[in-house]
Amino acid sequence: MATPGRLVSRLAVVTGGGSGIGRAVCQRLASEGASVVVADLNEASANETLKSLPRDLRGQAHMATAADVASKESVKTLLTSIQARYFQPPSVCVNAAGITLDNFLLDMEEDDFDKVVQVNLKGSFLVVQAVAQALVASGATKGSLITVGSIVGKVGNIGQVNYAASKAGVEGVTRTAAKELARWLHFRFGIRCNCVLPGFISTPMTDTVPEKVISKMKALIPLGRMGEAAEVADVCAFLASDDARYITGASLEVTGGLFMG
Ligand code: NAP
Repeated sequence: MATPGRLVSRLAVVTGGGSGIGRAVCQRLASEGASVVVADLNEASANETLKSLPRDLRGQAHMATAADVASKESVKTLLTSIQARYFQPPSVCVNAAGITLDNFLLDMEEDDFDKVVQVNLKGSFLVVQAVAQALVASGATKGSLITVGSIVGKVGNIGQVNYAASKAGVEGVTRTAAKELARWLHFRFGIRCNCVLPGFISTPMTDTVPEKVISKMKALIPLGRMGEAAEVADVCAFLASDDARYITGASLEVTGGLFMG
């Protein structure tokens, strides 16, 4: 459930904001009062998300833009355009962009391994680095950077060697960023970094999973159903807010209990 007003005066950027979890995050952050920058590889879908957002409470318009998280140049352009429009860096960042290219280990093409790592892992690094650099340069004393990993990064998954490796790496990026950005030598940056680990969430990414596999997965989930994108968005909004002010370097599972313990 949204907490109205909790994120008023926050500027947030959400990558992968044109679909699934990213779109739900944009909607939740906006409904709590944040100004939201919807960024996605697909500009048309980013614009669709933009149209669905409630007005932000400060009267600052939200914006949508194309951005490729796997390209340093594109991420840099994203940050430049945000600062040109709002005269400040985003204090909240949710990096939800991600892809899958599944195959069994024995058949996985090197190119498919590289592509998934490029978007999921390198993309997380580029986005976290760029937003952190902009925050530090602006003298900001607080910020909340949220990465989207996966429970698969912890436990592995048949047919997802590339995806599991990339998502395990996302947790490493997040924990290291959390240590460096909380304070560094005698500087105190106050930037929190946390990772959300969704389990099996109903989005366009999982729409292609065969019904047989879905039934098997559901049987393994203690809460007995797939999650909804809005349920991951709830956790992101919490992490973005001051309610999570003493949480950094954490990985929060949103799995309905799948693979607990
Ligand atoms: P989704 O509906 O496919 O959304 C992913 C979005 O990311 C799409 O709009 C996609 O654009 C965009 N994207 C892909 N590559 C990009 C790039 N290089 N730069 C910018 N945007 C890019 O998937 P989702 O289920 O919401 O997944 C969101 C995140 O949650 C991903 O990181 C995913 O790995 C993670 N996750 C999902 C689940 C799940 O069960 N759904 C579970 C664990 C973790 P296009 O449509 O143009 O490709």
